Amino acid sequence: MSLIAENLSAVHEQIDRYAERAGRSSDTVNLIAVAKTKPQEAVVEALRAGQMIFGENRVQESQGKYPDLRADWPEMELHLIGPLQTNKTKDALALFDVIHTVDRPKLVRSIAKESQALGRCPKLLIQVNTGEEDQKAGVLPSDVEALVQFTREENLPLAGLMCIPPVEDAPSGHFGFLKRMADELDLPWVSMGMSGDYQTAVELGATHIRVGSAIFGTRPPLNT
Ligand SMILES: *Cc1c(COP(=O)(O)O)cnc(C)c1O
Repeated sequence: MSLIAENLSAVHEQIDRYAERAGRSSDTVNLIAVAKTKPQEAVVEALRAGQMIFGENRVQESQGKYPDLRADWPEMELHLIGPLQTNKTKDALALFDVIHTVDRPKLVRSIAKESQALGRCPKLLIQVNTGEEDQKAGVLPSDVEALVQFTREENLPLAGLMCIPPVEDAPSGHFGFLKRMADELDLPWVSMGMSGDYQTAVELGATHIRVGSAIFGTRPPLNT
């Protein structure tokens, strides 16, 4: 078994264990393998091990890495988990199945306009800045409801909420908060949990966990 295959099966074991603890079926947890900075060969290794959902944080990097894989692996799903600039909206809509980082009305308008022209729209999640950090992307908790409403009014396929807790905080408070907010807003998907804290996220109701280094190994520090 390859190292990536071994890592994937270890992550699945953890998902099973923590889902069971929380009394949920592990089928309700979607594992997104975050392959940013890793070469296409690493993605292929994961695909061969049965992993079908991948996450990337840059549109341009993804354009080089995935289009030719889609032909061989039609079930593959690609998720954008990094910030999206409106000048990249069109490219992102063409490439991704899910966008986790919707965080402002301007971006919603841009997605509405370009998806109409394209005739398709990925599923969308709104990124919430649960720690209210100045430097972090995401909408402030107090503005989430308005942005949800606006996205729905634009008839876009809004599916859930996403967060990245502050590094210095225990993640559980943020995860619990995001899950409650999603429930209140009637949004079925909750994207939370990374290599260091996905078990907690599974316990607290994540439907999508975004795991990179625990599957593909560490990255250079600039691309964490
Ligand atoms: C890189 C990244 C991840 C994965 O991080 P790991 O700690 O390597 O698991 C998850 N979510 C987002 C938004 C990321 O940018």
